[in-house]
Amino acid sequence: MYEAVKHFRISGDGLYSQKCNDFFKYNYKFKNNFLTPSCTAALEMTALLMNIKPGDEVIMPSFTFVSCANAFVLRGATIRFIDSNCNEPNIDVSKIEALVNKNTKAIIAVHYAGIPCDIDELIRIKKKYSLVLIEDCAHAIDSYYKNKPLGSFGDFSTFSFHDTKNITCGEGGLLVVNNKKYVKRAEIIREKGTDRAAFFRGEIKKYSWIDIGSSYLLSDLSAAYLYGQLTSIKTIQSKRIKIFNRYSANLNNFSKYFKIPESFIGKKYNGHMFYIILKSSKERSSLIEYLDMKNIQAVSHYVPLHNSKFYKEKHIVDSCKNADLFSKRLLRLPLHPYLKMNNIDDICENILNFYKIL
Ligand SMILES: *Cc1c(COP(=O)(O)O)cnc(C)c1O
Repeated sequence: MYEAVKHFRISGDGLYSQKCNDFFKYNYKFKNNFLTPSCTAALEMTALLMNIKPGDEVIMPSFTFVSCANAFVLRGATIRFIDSNCNEPNIDVSKIEALVNKNTKAIIAVHYAGIPCDIDELIRIKKKYSLVLIEDCAHAIDSYYKNKPLGSFGDFSTFSFHDTKNITCGEGGLLVVNNKKYVKRAEIIREKGTDRAAFFRGEIKKYSWIDIGSSYLLSDLSAAYLYGQLTSIKTIQSKRIKIFNRYSANLNNFSKYFKIPESFIGKKYNGHMFYIILKSSKERSSLIEYLDMKNIQAVSHYVPLHNSKFYKEKHIVDSCKNADLFSKRLLRLPLHPYLKMNNIDDICENILNFYKIL
């Protein structure tokens, strides 16, 4: 960060933004990278690039963060929510085709907890109906599907570097544009609707207003922090994965009391999140309270968007039973790189104590 300041250039697309872009290019083979102030901003850029307008429909899981829907609702789109799989929160791809119609423009795949959605099936549907596929990779940096990094499959992929994510710069995001047809305009929309990026490359003498847009650049101060994180990504990820595996080993055999997703066992993910599924929301509240007394912060997750105050009041929505279930019963356990193995053992012991298993 001091380097960024020393270079007297801390606005967007400076030295450290370039270094971050090169990192993504080199490590994940992402060719067109646009650092943004947030994943939310990356999703908003996507909606602008797609020329989303009133009447358009976008398909996404209900069990996701509000920005997925909000970015498209801002452009006037109607959201069609799909339920989660019964055994884990990712989008149930078998339910997508029934909702596709002539107004459908895109599908958003959210790789919940860094676990890949069924990419092969999503690509088949995308091709069959000529839809745009967007991967929300907010949880999914450095996670892979058939040896290819998540974020390589969508026309667009969005990442978050918010504090709560594996790699962070406080607030930050990345839009990866894999479909070449959108690259040029992405540059313009991100620079307030101007061709300033081409001007900085020396391709034109003056830049001017040529399209709609907004300010979607990440400060180079934040990019400098982000680059520091990226250079430590191997250490960060290996610590998170070690913690994930410890939870998995410690809590694997108690399905009579709570479940851990089958998709967690014996697989290599990015250690973004470890959660368990309890029998009822009442039991979850008691366990949260019990752990809180021991200074352990375990937390629930999303209120499904189909059930949100904002959406429910305005639309008739399809039911999403599994999303409701995860909303009521999923419990995230503490996971950050500073936790030691004995902390994890202690957390697990407390959970087992709660159930009087020990
Ligand atoms: C965190 C998160 C976002 C939003 O990220 P910001 O960078 O805070 O805008 C979007 N989608 C999902 C799935 C998230 O978890």
